[in-house]
Amino acid sequence: MDGIKEHLTAIKSRLPESVTVVAVSKFHPAEAIMEAYDAGQRAFGESRAGELAAKAQALPSDIDWHFIGHLQTNKARTVVAHARFIQSIDSERLLRLIDSEARRAGKTVDVLLQFHVAREETKFGFLPEELVTLLESGIAEELTGVRIRGVMGMASNVDDEERIAADFRAIRGTFDLIKAMSLPGLGLFDTVSMGMSGDYPLAVRLGSTMVRIGTTIFGEREY
Ligand SMILES: *Cc1c(COP(=O)(O)O)cnc(C)c1O
Repeated sequence: MDGIKEHLTAIKSRLPESVTVVAVSKFHPAEAIMEAYDAGQRAFGESRAGELAAKAQALPSDIDWHFIGHLQTNKARTVVAHARFIQSIDSERLLRLIDSEARRAGKTVDVLLQFHVAREETKFGFLPEELVTLLESGIAEELTGVRIRGVMGMASNVDDEERIAADFRAIRGTFDLIKAMSLPGLGLFDTVSMGMSGDYPLAVRLGSTMVRIGTTIFGEREY
């Protein structure tokens, strides 16, 4: 755990203050989270519902939990109970489910729509034209349990920096396109979550407003 505070400080010193750092704490113990917490970090990211619930119940209540993993519908209620921000909305069905669970719990949850990078092997997320169609339908105004804050994406898992840059440009470009449409209900559309340990400096240069960093803060995960 040694060095968590130093790693966080080093990362933040290299980023504009306007960029939010989400410390991805999945698979890391409560003590590691507390070390970051004691250094002032409040936004943490988890990718499994059960792990999120256990940590949220054990750790300080002012932690700002972000859910970043693939979310199965039977876990939606658990995640809504603990996360303020759900970054991994990958279907209209899941968006509507989170909305109804949030309303049931008397909450409003911030969400990001997950961008599907077409060349990536994963099947999760929206293609750019699907995102535009969904938002043009007026869904942001219709759903009152969620605030659609922006998009989240991952670059292709490759070493080719040009290709990673192209993915980030596509994510930011789609965000800008939607933002420029000034759709009703999207007044808070302000977040582009892209960039992880291996590529966050590039992501920030290409317009990220929120980075999700695990390994560089906490070290390697032991699965
Ligand atoms: C695990 C994870 C991260 C953090 O990855 P690192 O390479 O450890 O920084 C970021 N985003 C998502 C969606 C993840 O699942």
